Amino acid sequence: MDIPFLDLKAQYAALKPEIDAAVTSVLAGGWYILGEQVRAFEQEFAAYCGVAYGVGVGSGTAALQLALLACDIGSGDEVITVSYTAVATVAAIELTGATPVLVDIEPATFTLDPQRLEGAITARTRAVIPVHLYGQPADMLPILDIARRHGLRVIEDCAQAHGAMYRGRHIGSFGDLACFSFYPTKNLGAAGDGGMVVSDEAQLAERVRLLRQYGWRQRYVSEMPGLNSRLDELQAAILRLKLRHLEEWNRRRQALAARYDALLAGSGVVTPAVRQGCRHVYHLYVVRSRRRDALQAYLKDRGIGTLVHYPLAVHQQPAYTGVTIGPGGLAESERAAAEVLSLPLYPEMPDEHLQQVAAAVRAFDR
Ligand SMILES: *Cc1c(COP(=O)(O)O)cnc(C)c1O
Repeated sequence: MDIPFLDLKAQYAALKPEIDAAVTSVLAGGWYILGEQVRAFEQEFAAYCGVAYGVGVGSGTAALQLALLACDIGSGDEVITVSYTAVATVAAIELTGATPVLVDIEPATFTLDPQRLEGAITARTRAVIPVHLYGQPADMLPILDIARRHGLRVIEDCAQAHGAMYRGRHIGSFGDLACFSFYPTKNLGAAGDGGMVVSDEAQLAERVRLLRQYGWRQRYVSEMPGLNSRLDELQAAILRLKLRHLEEWNRRRQALAARYDALLAGSGVVTPAVRQGCRHVYHLYVVRSRRRDALQAYLKDRGIGTLVHYPLAVHQQPAYTGVTIGPGGLAESERAAAEVLSLPLYPEMPDEHLQQVAAAVRAFDR
């Protein structure tokens, strides 16, 4: 038995004629950076999220960095986020010179616990970055309410949640700005790096637009110090055609997750909870087990690929031993890091694979 965790070649195979034609057309066109494809994709993706503006950038990390810079956040400022996330969230805060302040998660959803937010706010706090981890929306209403009362910016980290919904609205439409990654494994993935910042506020979107390219509005005239972080035409062309399949892929992810939920009910692992009123898009299907490492080894022996997202919370990593931790500590983050296991789940995954994975997980507990 050989069941991969993920098979990106299957997605390319399904779309090969379309992708090859799009790539060839960009190559033949001779315009490779910030052109027609990027402009069109920015509009199409912003519309998909239900917001007015999109700005294509070089990666999800850069999207977060640029969103913070657009809010004029930097040295001397504090930004609250979770420790239980991809390190990129925290790295992006540090890239601006601001100080990350890490708070704990709700154990059932793995997302920022709104009850920990208010206590972590100081006179220097400027923004909060909720992360919609694994494809599950963070609890945006209380987060927005607390942020509004304290005059904080809200920047959504949507890197794992393209198409997820909270109370009937797409994530990415709640914060002042929202940041997406198009890293190849994400629900909408390029054939390389890519990212986008979306916003309903014209001024903030415009600032990101300038900041992504040396502060230029007009070529060779920098209005502000900026970066070089641009989405390229090849990636935009590929992402445009993949965007047309995103809903169908997310529905397939949800169907596979429902099948896992049913087959794993009553087994030794805890299956993912879905927040009420939300659409979880299962970037990852993550179970909890007290015997996680043994379970992973057992599955590996049976040819089943799994991964751990994430074996260490950010504050447990060598680079972040001195990071600021919010009141209440990070016990749930540490418990999650010790218990989580991501099972194979991707839109092209064969049904038989899922059945075999579920059967093996159940057999482990017997
Ligand atoms: C992938 C990811 C990022 C960073 O995106 P890149 O495109 O890899 O820079 C940020 N936050 C989260 C939660 C992610 O999963």
